[in-house]
Amino acid sequence: MPDTHECLMTTCTAQISKHLAFCPAHWRLVPRDLQTEIYETHRLNDRQSWYNAIARARTIIAEQERNSPQAAATVLITGDTYPVKDQLKALGGVWSPAEKGWRVPKAQELAAKVLVGNADNPGALQLPFDDEYAPAYDETAETIGDRRRIGR
Ligand SMILES: [Zn+2]
Repeated sequence: MPDTHECLMTTCTAQISKHLAFCPAHWRLVPRDLQTEIYETHRLNDRQSWYNAIARARTIIAEQERNSPQAAATVLITGDTYPVKDQLKALGGVWSPAEKGWRVPKAQELAAKVLVGNADNPGALQLPFDDEYAPAYDETAETIGDRRRIGR
C-alpha cells in the first residue's frame, strides 16, 4: 500500500500522507465542526457518514475556492525565498508566517519554484504536516473498512 495519496479534493493533486484526508491547504478550509465530524465518523468507522461528511467538505471547499481563488488554490513555496520576495509578491504570493513560506497561486507554481531555484527539487516543497488539524486516516478504498487512528 502506498504511503501517500492525492488530496481527496478532486481538483487537487497534492500528494499527502495516507493518514490525512485533505492536504493542509484544503483541510483548513473545512469548518471546524465538519472537521470534527470527519474525524469522529472515521474514528467510529461509520463509513457512510464519513463519506457524506467528505462530500460536504468537498462542496464547501469548492465554494470557498470560487469565492476566494487566491486564498484557496495556492501552493506553499519554501526555501531561500528572501532574495526573491518581491518577485514572489508580484506573482500574487502572500507570506505565510505559520508555514515559513509563501502561498502562491497554483497557476504560478512553476514560475515561483524557478525563482526560488528549486524547480528540480520538488522534495523541498513538501506541504507542512499540520498537526493541530490533522486527524489520522487510512482511507484508501481497499482498506476503508479497516480505518484506524494511527499514532494517537
Ligand atoms: Zn488539496
